[in-house]
Amino acid sequence: MTEPTGHHPELFEPLHLGPITLRNRIVMGSMHTGLEERFWDTGRLAAYFAMRARGGAGLMITGGIAPSRTGLLLPFGAKMTNRLDAWRHRRVTRAVHAEGGLIAMQILHAGRYGYTPFKFNVSWDKSPIHPFQPIKLNDFMIRHIVRSYGRSAELARRAGYDAVEVMAGEGYLLNTFLCPRTNQRTDRWGGSTENRQRIVLEIIDAIRAAVGPDYPIIVRQSIADLVKGGQTWDEIAGLARALQAHGVTAINTDIGWHEATVPTIATSVPRAAFVKFTERLRDEVDIPLIASNRINAPDVAEEILRRGRVDAISMARPLLADPELPVKAQHGRADEINTCIGCNQACLDHAFVGKKVSCLLNPRAGRETTLVLSPTRIARRVAVIGAGPAGLAAAVSAAERGHRVELFEAGAAIGGQFAIAARIPGKEEFAETIRYFTRQLEVRGVTVHLSTRATAENLIAAAFDEVIVATGVTPRIPDIPGIDHPSVLTYADAVLGHREVGARVAVIGAGGIGFDVTEFLTVEDSPTLDLKEWEQEWGVSEDLTVPGFVTTPRPAPAARTVYLVQRKAGGQGRGLGKTTGWIHRAGVKMKGVEQISGARYDRIDDEGLHLSFPDSDTPARVLAVDSVVVCAGQESVRDLVAPLTTAGVQVTVIGGADVASELDAKRAIRQGTEVAAGL
Ligand code: NAP
Ligand code: SF4
Repeated sequence: MTEPTGHHPELFEPLHLGPITLRNRIVMGSMHTGLEERFWDTGRLAAYFAMRARGGAGLMITGGIAPSRTGLLLPFGAKMTNRLDAWRHRRVTRAVHAEGGLIAMQILHAGRYGYTPFKFNVSWDKSPIHPFQPIKLNDFMIRHIVRSYGRSAELARRAGYDAVEVMAGEGYLLNTFLCPRTNQRTDRWGGSTENRQRIVLEIIDAIRAAVGPDYPIIVRQSIADLVKGGQTWDEIAGLARALQAHGVTAINTDIGWHEATVPTIATSVPRAAFVKFTERLRDEVDIPLIASNRINAPDVAEEILRRGRVDAISMARPLLADPELPVKAQHGRADEINTCIGCNQACLDHAFVGKKVSCLLNPRAGRETTLVLSPTRIARRVAVIGAGPAGLAAAVSAAERGHRVELFEAGAAIGGQFAIAARIPGKEEFAETIRYFTRQLEVRGVTVHLSTRATAENLIAAAFDEVIVATGVTPRIPDIPGIDHPSVLTYADAVLGHREVGARVAVIGAGGIGFDVTEFLTVEDSPTLDLKEWEQEWGVSEDLTVPGFVTTPRPAPAARTVYLVQRKAGGQGRGLGKTTGWIHRAGVKMKGVEQISGARYDRIDDEGLHLSFPDSDTPARVLAVDSVVVCAGQESVRDLVAPLTTAGVQVTVIGGADVASELDAKRAIRQGTEVAAGL
């Protein structure tokens, strides 16, 4: 867990980027919010950035804006191609400047990553993660795209942006030109390294010519593609030197294509895992370098800056989770930061299905104008029952508004399902959320009653104005013959160490928790991987001559033999997060877990778990296991609701106590915050 670290002197050293001076080294990296596209969302976008400017970010970078219609990320997506577009964006830049902030516009040509059937790329090759095939650009179109970058940058300057960033990473158009993986052209835009890099350098020249000699140009350069056929280090270093020679002001380093099979930003990626790539680039260029990926806390950023090889730190999701991260860090209040846990559940998972982006921990992100915790005029006495994510969010938000809040928790500690999640290997970050809420309860003056089971009688007698029931869930115990056999335990007992788990285990239920528990059981002996082990596990190469820096993964052997079982036929883990589900599915495969679908649970006895397969020809079998861990979902705990309602108490039910079937921290925290906002 992060310790508060005082005032972070390196982080709060100003940084000059040409004519602009960043007040600190915190750059809010580009993240598509879903508010960029439509003019009626511009006010929300302005409020979103204004709040982060008020929170102290040194520089913010918009989500990707296309320089031409050929580069749209979505049908009718965000673009900067004419004066009307520039006029609309003035509302955003003015709002940021009014708060003393700086903002750059990212110019992004989506290439084959456009979510549209009508898209263009370096070649005809389809992306493995998108349904539509691109059209191969011809020479005329490429020259037009080059010019369009210049025009777009000039319009961005007119719109009041303080800089532009050119996206040349993550597998978008420019990155596909740079890599032999996708660029097999034989004309002047393909073949040799010089030809593959030509488009990027011509774009920089076009922008420089359009915006004048001083205007800051940042390039988001891919410095580790993490895909086969990616760039070698020599190519990356050479491009960085050329960018500097062509007048680029700073390089914002970028890691991994979207189609990479190495996780780059998920919670299981060790913090600052890729900084060494950025630090290596210091030997090649003198212009400022910005490091990114899984740098979510000011002390981690401070340590990187102290080493002196990186000039600024990109934090996108951390400022989504807590817009005030910079001011809190600057004033020695790091323990009050709502630390991004890298879950992706409300940010990237939303972005990749075309939904507006928010944050699981901070549902006000992206809703700055609609979900407002304004001070209350009448302070009410509010009881919140249950200190899981829903109850904590409700208690802290209600107290922030000025209500007098008492929080009752039957257990000895706060956290609920998050306390279980924090024990899962690779989910250690979830402990940060418990740290955050622990501190917020103090800061907001919530009266906390731990180890206190609130009863209806006590609550009625105390005559609270409002009772918020957030009593959560209890694991579902399925009706299987032998379910009371001594080998059977719940996931909570297994993860919290209340019961021993044997060497051979069957996990009943392959939902989110079944996968988590399976990972816990297979790596339990060394729950936290160090960076070297993690790189081996996922096949990140240290060898700079290896294109893309990917090699064969060498996972550590599983600590146990685990069977993961579900009743549904077909693949497992389909309901997991859009951007993280593949990591869990790959992790379970890497550990040699046998995944069994379409099963019926016949009984559990001394022989183990008896399965049959009524809907297929698969013969019945017995899994000879020592333990059976039940991960079969949850049921709501809401015993308090009926007696309180009968007694006429104003009751609101939130979180898992409200709906257990889709137990979900994102909904729980949002519900808790919304209820508090409406009190
Ligand atoms: P879940 O995703 O709904 O999965 C429950 C599993 O139990 C299903 O695989 C279901 O599969 C099985 N099941 C349900 N009723 C059963 C019964 N009567 N007997 C036997 N099996 C039964 O619930 P969860 O795993 O508890 O996760 C809860 C929520 O937490 C998820 O919705 C997710 O939002 C969140 N979560 C997500 C992640 C992640 O994305 N990595 C991790 C942890 C938690 P069959 O019906 O096919 O057997
Ligand atoms: Fe971070 Fe998760 Fe919030 Fe995204 S949703 S910003 S990953 S905490």
